[in-house]
Amino acid sequence: MKLVTHRVITGKIKLVTGLHIGGGGETIQIGGMDNPVIKNPLDNYPYIPGSSLKGKMRSLLEWKYDKSPDGNPCKCSQCDICRLFGTSGADDSTLGPTRIIVRDAHLTDGSRDTLNRMRQEKGLLYAEEKYENSIDRLKGTAKNPRPTERVPAGIDFDFEIVLRVFDGDQEVTHLDKLKEALRLLQADALGGSGSRGYGKVQFADCKDETGAEFIL
Ligand SMILES: [Zn+2]
Repeated sequence: MKLVTHRVITGKIKLVTGLHIGGGGETIQIGGMDNPVIKNPLDNYPYIPGSSLKGKMRSLLEWKYDKSPDGNPCKCSQCDICRLFGTSGADDSTLGPTRIIVRDAHLTDGSRDTLNRMRQEKGLLYAEEKYENSIDRLKGTAKNPRPTERVPAGIDFDFEIVLRVFDGDQEVTHLDKLKEALRLLQADALGGSGSRGYGKVQFADCKDETGAEFIL
C-alpha cells in the first residue's frame, strides 16, 4: 500500500457544558475526590485523550449506520468505519492500516491561563467539583452526595486529527465521514454523564493543513 499523503485537521474543542472524562479514581481518599478527571501527570492539567474522542466518533457513526447491533465495534472489515477507525488484529482484513489518527487534545494557552487563575482564586486543581445526588423517589430527598470533578464550561482544547490517504482511497468520502462524526459528536456528548448534561462540545476554527477552512 502506497501512502499518498497525510491530511491534517486542526481546530478547537470548546466545552459548552462541563466535561468529565474519568481518570480512574486511583487516589481514593475519605472525603476526597473519588471521581477525578484525567490529567497529565507531568503538569496536572486536564486533557482529552485521543482514544476518548476516537471511540466516541466511531460509536456514533456505528449507531447511525446500524453497524453495532450487539453494542460492540463493527468487525465487518469492509465498511468505511472499519477502514477509518481500524479493525481488531484477529480480522482477516484487506483494509490496510487504520486511516485516522486522533491526537490527545490539550488546553489552549488561554484556557490554561483561565484554569491557573481559577486555581489561585478558588484553590481548585484545574477542575470544578460538582456534587451529584441521586434522589430518593419515595422521600423526595437527595441521598449519597458524591463529588464529581469536571472541566468547567468555557474551557477550550486544541485538537488534531490526521487522515492517512493511501493510493486508491476515496479521500473525499473519508473526509466527509470524519466531518459527519464530528457533527454527530456536537449533537451528542463527550465523556461521562452526557444524558445529565455533561460533555456538550463544539468544534471551532477548523482548518486543514493548508490553512483552508474545514467546514463541518
Ligand atoms: Zn465495518
